Amino acid sequence: MTFFLSHPPYLAPMKFATLLLLAPFAVLAQTKPAAPLLPPADPGIQKLADEISAKNLEANIRRLVAFGTRHTLSDTQSPTRGIGAARNYVRDEFLKYSRAGGGRLTVEMDTFTVQPDGRRISRPVLMANVLATLPGTDPTDTRVLLVSGHIDSRVSDVMNATADAPGANDDGSGTVLVMELARVLAGQKFPCTLKFVAVQGEEQGLYGSGHLAARAKKEGWNLVAMLNNDIVGNSHGFDPVINDGTRLRVFSEGTPANETPEQAKQRRQLSSENDGPSRQLARYTQRIGQLYGKGHQVVLTYRPDRSLRGGDHTPFNQQGFAAVRFTEMNEDYTHQHQDLRTEKGRAYGDVTEGVDFAYLRRNAGLNLATMASLALAPAAPAQVEVLTATLTNRTELRWQAPATGPRPAGYVVLVRATSAPQWQQRIPVAGLTANLPISKDNFIFGVASVDGAGHESVPVLPVVGR
Ligand SMILES: [Zn+2]
Repeated sequence: MTFFLSHPPYLAPMKFATLLLLAPFAVLAQTKPAAPLLPPADPGIQKLADEISAKNLEANIRRLVAFGTRHTLSDTQSPTRGIGAARNYVRDEFLKYSRAGGGRLTVEMDTFTVQPDGRRISRPVLMANVLATLPGTDPTDTRVLLVSGHIDSRVSDVMNATADAPGANDDGSGTVLVMELARVLAGQKFPCTLKFVAVQGEEQGLYGSGHLAARAKKEGWNLVAMLNNDIVGNSHGFDPVINDGTRLRVFSEGTPANETPEQAKQRRQLSSENDGPSRQLARYTQRIGQLYGKGHQVVLTYRPDRSLRGGDHTPFNQQGFAAVRFTEMNEDYTHQHQDLRTEKGRAYGDVTEGVDFAYLRRNAGLNLATMASLALAPAAPAQVEVLTATLTNRTELRWQAPATGPRPAGYVVLVRATSAPQWQQRIPVAGLTANLPISKDNFIFGVASVDGAGHESVPVLPVVGR
């Protein structure tokens, strides 16, 4: 190949060995100067992330905790106690943000009735997700982005609807994160639609997210990313005590829950079990963390959720959407799903004191930067294919412009070794094809759209084309 022709074998053996190690990427670097591994940071996005206020996050958690319990089966009539009052509070805050932002943020109670399920629902319950929508400004861009937290809380007995269940961290943290994003973004203009939701019924069986995911499917939302924030405000584990206020886990499924037998067959042939759309989204959030996190890191966790568990992203995965879960690095189980009590000198319960608001603020910033970056980027390219008709040691890719929104200014091909967790090379391309002097057998490729300012979409893994 070109590299070896232009570098004759009289190079010193040691130097040549070094070059061989670097060969696959050195070849790429030879034609053009190597592009940076990350797109350029947008100061506008950084500014928005910096507007997130730890004080607001704390004030809203204290308000939520003050409703006593937010158990799904709790009081809905009292103005001061129970899930009804809490839902109204979040709705009224959304409305306040809407007014302050020029009135474009619309707010709805997404209501639905759940019948007794023989498990965690003992009577018919009218539930409501509190949903705020910031419509896109480009009518040709159908994309929707969604960020969620769950408003309901619980104690040790999942059916106890009357005991105090502060739920400061689980999931007051996710709920106030969503509220704060809505506050900061309510006055902003993005080409595509942003949705902010506090779902109900998570603890009783993912009812609110299940309802919303089914609704998204039924109404044909072009939902390209769902970010579930559940337990994102505590920075220390208790057993052992580990303080870690600098990292946030992102959980993602490796292969789509709704994959067809045909897709499963190709996935097995190419061993792309680590590259489903949700995992691409997870990788994207880690790269966004590197751009805007100021040292705060997103840790890729190759699981759909914590061991044998699920969350509000799960129903979205089941409906075929890219959806991930953010959760703090070290959970404190003395604070989760616990009756408020002291036992052998240890305090139990999900109280406000267990939340680190500076940590929660950084996590909110990562969510905001992810949403804004996705919203400002063009939609991902369509029909991305790797050509396999002829046997070569090169890689030929082709794709089409996105089906929605403005035409991208260009594209980037992302490349990594088959065993590497994150992209290792980023190659800008102007047209709708790429012909790279590295073997498709040795690397994984993704193609993303970019706009003139460098905002980048989530990459799309190619399917086999002929
Ligand atoms: Zn939770």
